Amino acid sequence: MRDCRSFYIDGKWVSPIKENDYPIENPSTEENVGLVSLGSVEDVDLAVKAARTAFCKFGFSTSEERISLLEKLLEVYKSHYEEMAEAISIEMGAPIDFAMEDQADCGRGHIAATLKALKKYEFHSEKSNATIVKEPIGVCGFITPWNWPINQIACKVAPALATGCTMVLKPSEIAPLSAQLFSKIVHQAGIPAGVYNMVHGDGPGVGTAISNHDDIDMVSFTGSTRAGIAVSTAAAKNIKRVTLELGGKSPNIIFDDADLETAVISGVMACMENVGQSCNAPTRMLVPADRYQEAMEYARKAADSIDVSKSHEHGKHIGPLVSRVHFDKVQRLIQTGIDEGARVVAGGAGKPDGLAKGYFVKPTIFGDVNNQMTIAREEIFGPVLVLIPFETEEEAINVANDTAYGLAAYVQTYDEKRIDRVTRRLRAGMVRVNGAPHVYTSPFGGYKQSGNGREWGEFGLEDFLETKAISRPLSNG
Ligand code: NAD
Repeated sequence: MRDCRSFYIDGKWVSPIKENDYPIENPSTEENVGLVSLGSVEDVDLAVKAARTAFCKFGFSTSEERISLLEKLLEVYKSHYEEMAEAISIEMGAPIDFAMEDQADCGRGHIAATLKALKKYEFHSEKSNATIVKEPIGVCGFITPWNWPINQIACKVAPALATGCTMVLKPSEIAPLSAQLFSKIVHQAGIPAGVYNMVHGDGPGVGTAISNHDDIDMVSFTGSTRAGIAVSTAAAKNIKRVTLELGGKSPNIIFDDADLETAVISGVMACMENVGQSCNAPTRMLVPADRYQEAMEYARKAADSIDVSKSHEHGKHIGPLVSRVHFDKVQRLIQTGIDEGARVVAGGAGKPDGLAKGYFVKPTIFGDVNNQMTIAREEIFGPVLVLIPFETEEEAINVANDTAYGLAAYVQTYDEKRIDRVTRRLRAGMVRVNGAPHVYTSPFGGYKQSGNGREWGEFGLEDFLETKAISRPLSNG
C-alpha cells in the first residue's frame, strides 16, 4: 500500500494537523492502492508561512545559484524516472510504456527547457533613464490536475524555481503518487527548505485555502474551466495574479488537398491518446462534405484498431479513464450524443468486451454531427471524436472558432497560402500544422475560456515575474 498521508513543508515531511484519509484507486483494477491525506486551511497556513520566510532569501538568489539547483533537480529526476512512470501509471491509468515514453518525459523536458531559458534570460535592461528589473512575484500557489500529472507540476515548479519564487503545491487528490515522489526528488536535489512545499488535498479544502490566501501573491491553476472560475473568484480578494490553463474542444481541419486517409487516421490516434484525457486533444474533426462518408469509414477502421487494456501491460494500447465519476460522465455524454441524433460510427456506450473491472471505455466515433450538438460543444475528456462536414474554407474556420474554448487547433493542408490564411484566423493559442509536434520550448496556453497564461520554456518564466522600473534623474542635454 502506498502512503501519501504526509505533506512536505519547510524541507520536512510532516503529518497533517487533522487526519482526513482518502483512498488512492488504481483505475485499471478499481482496487485501493494506498491513502492520501486531505489537508486543511491550517496545513496551508504552515506551508505559506514557510514559503514566505524562504522568499526573503531565495527571492534574492542569483541566476547562477538557481541554474545549479535546477541542474541538480534534473539529475535527480532522471535517476527516479522509471519510478515516476510507474507512479503515474498506477494513479491515473496510463499504460506503462506510454507513461515511460511520454508522461514521465514531461518532467525531464520541462526542467531542461526551463534551464535553457534561464541561462539566456535577461533580468535587467535599460530603457531611457530607467533600469527595468524583472523580479520574482513572491509566494506562489499551484493547483494541478491528474491527466498529465507530472507535466503540470514540472511546468509550474521549474519556472518558479528559475525566477526565485517560493511555492505551495496542491496536486490532484486523485493522482498524489507522482507528486509525493516529485517532492522526494526536490528534497534530494537540495532545494532550500521552504522554497518548495506540498500539501495534498481536494479543491474545496486546500484548493480554496490557496486561492483565497492573503499571503500568496500568485496562483497558477490547471484544470477545468469550472474550477478555474472558482479559483479566480476566490483569488480576487487580495488581487493576486491568477494564471489559468483550462479546458478545450479543439478542431482538426482536414482540407481537400491533404491525404484524407492518413490525416483521418492520425487525427483519430491523436484524439484517443491518453484516452482522450488531454486538454489539447483534437476532438472535433472537420472534413470536406463531399468526402464525409469516406472519412467516417477511415475513422471507424482507426478506432476499431485501437486496443484497450490494463495499464500495467506493455504495449501501445490505451488504458482506462481515471475514475468512476469520470467514467459515468463520459458514458452520459456518449448517451447524449445518441439521444441528440448523432450516428455511432465506432464504439459507443458501455465497456469494451472482457473488461468488466476498471473504467474502460470504447474508442468512440460519432458521425452526422453538427457543431451545435452537446458532443461538439462540451469537453468530454474521453476517447470520443466527432466528425463535422464543411463546404468551404470560410465555413471550416467559422465552425472551428465557434466554441467557448481556444486552446489548440490542428490544420491539415499542403497549400502554403492556405496555411497562412487559416492559421492566422484561428482563435487558439496553439496551432499545429500537418502533425507538427508542440515542443517543450513553445508557449502552452489558450484563448477565451481555455485560460490566460502561457507556460513552458522562456514564456513560462514571464508569468512568475514582476516588472520594476528604477528611474534616475535625466541628465541635461
Ligand atoms: P478539476 O478542475 O476538477 O481539478 C483540477 C485541480 O483543481 C485539482 O487539483 C482539484 O482538486 C482542484 N480544484 C477543484 N475544484 C477547485 C476549487 N473550487 N478551488 C480550487 N481548486 C479546485 O480538473 P481535473 O478533472 O483534475 O482535470 C481535467 C481538466 O483539466 C480538464 O478540463 C482539462 O481540459 C483541464 N486541463 C487543462 C490543461 C491546460 O494546460 N489547459 C492541462 C491539463 C488539464
